Amino acid sequence: MAEPFLTRDLRIAPNGIYIDPPQPQVRAIVTHGHADHARYGHGAVLATPDTVAIMKARYGEDAAGRWDELPFGERRQLDGGVTVSLHPAGHILGSAQVLLEHKGQRIVVSGDYKRLDDRTAQHFELVKCDLLVTEATFGLPVFQHPRPADEIARLLRSVAAFPERAHVIGCYALGKAQRVISLLRQSGYDAPIYLHGAMIRLCELYVERGIALGELRPSLDVPKAELAGQIVIAPPSAIKDRWSRRLPDPVLAVASGWMSVKQRARQSGVELPLVISDHADWNELRQTITETGAETIWVTHGREDALVYWSQQQGLAAEPLRIEAYEDSELDGE
Ligand SMILES: [Zn+2]
Ligand SMILES: [Zn+2]
Repeated sequence: MAEPFLTRDLRIAPNGIYIDPPQPQVRAIVTHGHADHARYGHGAVLATPDTVAIMKARYGEDAAGRWDELPFGERRQLDGGVTVSLHPAGHILGSAQVLLEHKGQRIVVSGDYKRLDDRTAQHFELVKCDLLVTEATFGLPVFQHPRPADEIARLLRSVAAFPERAHVIGCYALGKAQRVISLLRQSGYDAPIYLHGAMIRLCELYVERGIALGELRPSLDVPKAELAGQIVIAPPSAIKDRWSRRLPDPVLAVASGWMSVKQRARQSGVELPLVISDHADWNELRQTITETGAETIWVTHGREDALVYWSQQQGLAAEPLRIEAYEDSELDGE
C-alpha cells in the first residue's frame, strides 16, 4: 500500500483535521459522544447529527466553535482532496466509523464498534478499505461475549426470585443505560424502570431522537417500599455509595463487557454481573479485519498486541498505535 495519508496520531495529512483528538484542535471529526472521543473546545466539529446532539447536551452549545452535521452515508469534500463519509459503528446512538478517501486510497477509522443487534444504535455497516484503524477494547481470545438476551433473562429470573428487593443496575450513562432498558423491553419487561438522576437527561435525549424506552420514572423521592421488586438504573459509581441505601435490600448488578472478568466483578462487590458489552469481542474484531479486505491494520484503544499478532499471522501489515487519550468507557470512564 502507498504511504497512508493519515498519521499515527489520526491526523489527516493533506488538511490537518484530526479524528477524536484528545486536545482541542482547529478542526476535528468526532466518532461518537463518549468522553474519551468527544472533547470540549475544538474550533469545528464534524460528526453525525446524533453525536452533535449528544455533545451539546453534555458539554453545552458552545462546546465547539462550529458544528458540522454529516448524516450517515453522505459524502463530503474536504480540502486537500480528501472525501469523508460516516458509517454506522453500532456502538451507541450516532456512533460512526470514518471513511476517508484520497487519491484512490481508502482509510477507515472504526472508533468504538460492535456488530450485535442493538435497537439503540444504528446497525454496524461493513466498509471496505485499504487501511483499517480498529479499536481493541476486548482484543484478547478470552473475550467472547454471551448473548445479551441470555444476560437479561438471568436478571429477570433474579427479579422474579426476590420480589421484596430492588435490583439496581450499574450502567454507563451514555449508551449502556439506554441499551439495557431497550433489552429489557425487548424481552417483554413492561413495568416502569426507575432512573438515578444522572441517567435522566441522556435517556430523554434518546427518546427525543426516536429510541423507544417505555415508561421511565425518576427514583428520587419514591418511597422505599415502592421500589421493592423494581429495577433501578444508576451509574456504576452510585450503586455502592450512600445513594443505594434508599433502596430496599438492593441486589447490586453491573452491566458491562468487563463483567466477564470474574475477579473484577468480585472485587467490586457486584452480586449479579451482567456481561453486556458495547464493544466488539475477539471474534467480531477478527471477522471485521478480515471482511474489510484491509491489507494494513492499525490497532488502538485497548489490548493491541494479540490482535496485531493475529493480523500478522494472516499476512497483513499490522501495528499498534499508542494513543494515550483513550480510557475505559465501558465501566465508568467519565
Ligand atoms: Zn465509546
Ligand atoms: Zn472509546
